Formats: sequence, C-alpha cells, structure tokens
Amino acid sequence: MTFEQLNLIEPILRALKDQNYTTPTPIQAEAIPTLLEGNDLLGVAQTGTGKTAAFSIPIIQQLYKENSHGGRKGIKALVLTPTRELAIQIEENVKEYSKYTSLRHTVIYGGVPQKKQTDALRAGIDILIATPGRLLDLISQKYISLKTLEFFVLDEADQMLDMGFIHDIKKILPMLPKQRQSLFFSATMPVEIAKLANTILHNPTRVEV
Ligand code: AMP
Repeated sequence: MTFEQLNLIEPILRALKDQNYTTPTPIQAEAIPTLLEGNDLLGVAQTGTGKTAAFSIPIIQQLYKENSHGGRKGIKALVLTPTRELAIQIEENVKEYSKYTSLRHTVIYGGVPQKKQTDALRAGIDILIATPGRLLDLISQKYISLKTLEFFVLDEADQMLDMGFIHDIKKILPMLPKQRQSLFFSATMPVEIAKLANTILHNPTRVEV
C-alpha cells in the first residue's frame, strides 16, 4: 500500500515525501479512504500509531478542494485535544502536511497570555487546534465562532474525561453545526466514552488498531 493508492492530492503527496513517509500506517490505510468519502470515524488508537496524519490529511485534502472553488470565511476544522503538548504536536504535523497548500492553521491552549493567539485568530484561519478551556474562554470573548465549522475532531477522548474536561466538551458540542464530519479518537472505549461518541458521531466507520 502506498499513499498514491489512497488518492491523495499532489500537494499532500509532496509533503509526505518531504517527511520521508513511504507507507501508510494501518490506521492511515483504513481511515483515510472512509474519511475522504465524508464518513464519520470512531478510531480506537493510541498515540504513536500515526493517527494525527490519519485525521489531518483527509481534512486538509477536503479543505484544499473546497478552497480551489472559492472557500468561505471562518474556521472550517476544529481539533480538540487535552494537553498543550499534544496541541502543539498536532499543529506541527498539520503545518507539515499542509505546507504546499494555502490553508491556515493555529493552536490555542491555556496557561499563556492570549494576545499571540487572538492575533492569529483575527488574521483568519481554516484549521484550529485547541485545548477545551482556552477554546471556551476565547469563544466567550467572541474571538472564535464555530458557526462555519465543517470538521470536528475529538482527540484522546478517554484522557479528556480523566482530566475532567467532560463539562467543557458538553458546553462546546451544542455550538457545532449539525451538518459536519466528526472524528472521535480514544485509546480505550469504556461505556462512558462509547456513550459520548454516540452523541457526537453519525453512522461512523469504526477503526481499531
Ligand atoms: P502519531 O500517532 O500521530 O502521534 O504519530 C506518531 C509518529 O509517527 C509521528 O512522529 C509521525 O510523524 C510519524 N508518522 C506518522 N505517519 C507515518 C508514516 N506513514 N510513516 C512514517 N512515520 C509516520
């Protein structure tokens, strides 16, 4: 299996070559085709499996195709992740995979002054990577609207619950447009997590690695 066989666009294939990725990991091989078809995804996978590329690449590809037909303004994709470290890592990956597109991205997290983050948001972005608390904070200050969202990723759902973010997530969910593609990742799938996944996903493809 190669990335070419996954029908990826040339700007993404070129970026993956730069990263020296030759073969899709199992979660990439399974998730990318169904995501490119527009399906929701339930991914049971840990960090280290290549899940970041598995969710980033199909979002970048779909946004790239929209953009070339005159995309609309506003944030199109939101990736929610529990920690600052994960958020920074995801943004670095998104930056690499989208380097030959004109898509804009930024990362927001708590524990630092918000000025740099709000400046980036004001300039306009397509893909936002966020931790839940700072996201709610900047939404309440009207720096962020989720009305134009098309893609929603909930990463590390079990860790989110362990860290007490369930209330934040329940505040964020009603702000998302009903018409969207949703992706849900968790390393484990206890009943509580499966229930949360059910409230977010619509007929998801399940991928377990
Ligand atoms: P992740 O599970 O998303 O945190 O990814 C784990 C690591 O694998 C990251 O350092 C990625 O850069 C790397 N990686 C992801 N996909 C591939 C691939 N297809 N081939 C080689 N390395 C990869």
